[in-house]
Amino acid sequence: MSTSKKVAVIGGGPAGLSCAYQLARKGHAVTIFDERAELGGMMRYGIPGFRTPREVLDAEIRRILDLGVTARMSCRIGTDITMDRIRAEFDAVFLGLGAQSGRPLPVEGADAPNCVTATAFLKAFNDGRMRHVGKRVVVVGGGDTSIDVATVARRLGHIEKVNESDRPEYAIAGIIAHDVAAVSAKQGAEVTLTSIFAVDKMQASRAEVEHALAEGIAVRGGYAPLAVLRGPDGRATALRVIRCEAKIAGGRLEIKNIDGTEEDIPADLIVSAIGQSVDFAGLAEFDNGKGAIDTDRNYQVKGQPNCFVGGDVVRPHLLTTAIGHGTIAADGIDRFLHGEALDRRPKIDVHVFDLQRKMIERGLVFSEVHEPIRGTDTSQAAIHNFDNRSDRYVIPHEELFLGHFNRTPRNRRNVVTLSAAEALGNFEERLLPLTETQAVAEAKRCMSCGMCFECDNCVVYCPQVAVFKVAKSKSTAGRYVDTDYAKCIGCHICKDVCPTGYIQMGLGE
Ligand SMILES: Cc1cc2nc3c(=O)[nH]c(=O)nc-3n(C[C@H](O)[C@H](O)[C@H](O)COP(=O)(O)OP(=O)(O)OC[C@H]3O[C@@H](n4cnc5c(N)ncnc54)[C@H](O)[C@@H]3O)c2cc1C
Ligand code: SF4
Ligand code: SF4
Repeated sequence: MSTSKKVAVIGGGPAGLSCAYQLARKGHAVTIFDERAELGGMMRYGIPGFRTPREVLDAEIRRILDLGVTARMSCRIGTDITMDRIRAEFDAVFLGLGAQSGRPLPVEGADAPNCVTATAFLKAFNDGRMRHVGKRVVVVGGGDTSIDVATVARRLGHIEKVNESDRPEYAIAGIIAHDVAAVSAKQGAEVTLTSIFAVDKMQASRAEVEHALAEGIAVRGGYAPLAVLRGPDGRATALRVIRCEAKIAGGRLEIKNIDGTEEDIPADLIVSAIGQSVDFAGLAEFDNGKGAIDTDRNYQVKGQPNCFVGGDVVRPHLLTTAIGHGTIAADGIDRFLHGEALDRRPKIDVHVFDLQRKMIERGLVFSEVHEPIRGTDTSQAAIHNFDNRSDRYVIPHEELFLGHFNRTPRNRRNVVTLSAAEALGNFEERLLPLTETQAVAEAKRCMSCGMCFECDNCVVYCPQVAVFKVAKSKSTAGRYVDTDYAKCIGCHICKDVCPTGYIQMGLGE
């Protein structure tokens, strides 16, 4: 049902899309503003299509827009439209700005034209402007972004006779777009990835590093960049590096260079993948001075009750983190728009089933609910030994009783590993999705931690016949069994045999 409240979502990356989706479901009118031509944020303009397939992304975005969400593209808040105007026109705002700007290498010579940032490199590739790279590409980083740059460079390859105007840096700068015809004569590029950390300590996932190695990328751990060496034309010709030992001590990065180990790695293109920063142009009021936006646990901007925030602009992390922030912020925005106080978020933000909603769905009458819900046998609201524990803990595996279940192996997704020769020109997805049968089989392995899955163990094993099944007409999810506390002697057997850890002792009065 429409609430006739209007929310502006600034940034159509995973954080903004997730927030828009949840707000639309709650009945609010949502407009997403994004400076790019298409929605998706880093899922479209950063991460290559062989990792976040565009047809899947497009379908997910369509589902969100189909809820009635409006998208205003190629519109940057802070420059095209001021924040004051947004505030005047909307009841609440979500800031999902991401961290769009790449960090250049902090060394001498890094302003050479063929020394670029990872975000600029990947955007040129994802826009389709850049179709080949230099013969020798050096990537500096060690995280997932650097692996994406290196693997894209391997796939693009280089062309032997490159016209001056065809150099990749011009495509990256948006001055030209490479001609598709030239690409047929491509050869593999020599790609080197350097990291200050040893290879086994790099931030990129182990599997991604192994893929990069299989694809012929030279991964060199324990090297710090010292300088970009330039030729007479000002272009970079090599990256000077030095062996180093790097570690994080007390939250701070410590790098110890090893004197006398300098080395020059020849390069036609140098890509800096050492992190991203937020572009606060026109939005400086939100900058906490450290290049991020300060927020509380509800993702409400400190001191600005109608502004919420989430995703990389809070702290660069993962897609799933940004999606989670968007969901939590949408809860806060919804409460704010209804004039309600914001909840103290639980310590662990797990999804808990909504007893009231389940009962309404089943057309059942319930009495008033008081948290924590305790005891069941006299209340129409409570259910068998159920107490919302999400503010305290997730059911740990020790609380599951697995005695009646055989171990079922996980249905793993197939991963395609390419050799150096196979990688050139291959833009296919590497992590293949499960088939429908596999997906169903995998879902069946779920042990429903913390939620009754109606196995009858407690009914069968209770020596006092105190546990009984709720009449079908009154049962619903989580309200399948009930306990007669007059019969219960507190022997714990029901708790011990419950496979899901759903039963908690000590709730009866
Ligand atoms: C190369 C690369 C690889 C990655 N690989 C992975 C991975 O494998 N797995 C993973 O989980 N995470 C990965 N990440 C991280 C992940 O992409 C981010 O954590 C996530 O995209 C953050 O989402 P977001 O919505 O906060 O920001 P973004 O995705 O950056 O989206 C922000 C959006 O806001 C728009 N915007 C910004 N400012 C304004 C403004 N003022 N007005 C209008 N619009 C604006 C931008 O155009 C953009 O569309 C990767 C990141 C990069 C760069
Ligand atoms: S504690 Fe013992 S008596 Fe009480 S319901 Fe559980 S199994 Fe039955
Ligand atoms: S043993 Fe646990 S999962 Fe099985 S019916 Fe009883 S409460 Fe539900």
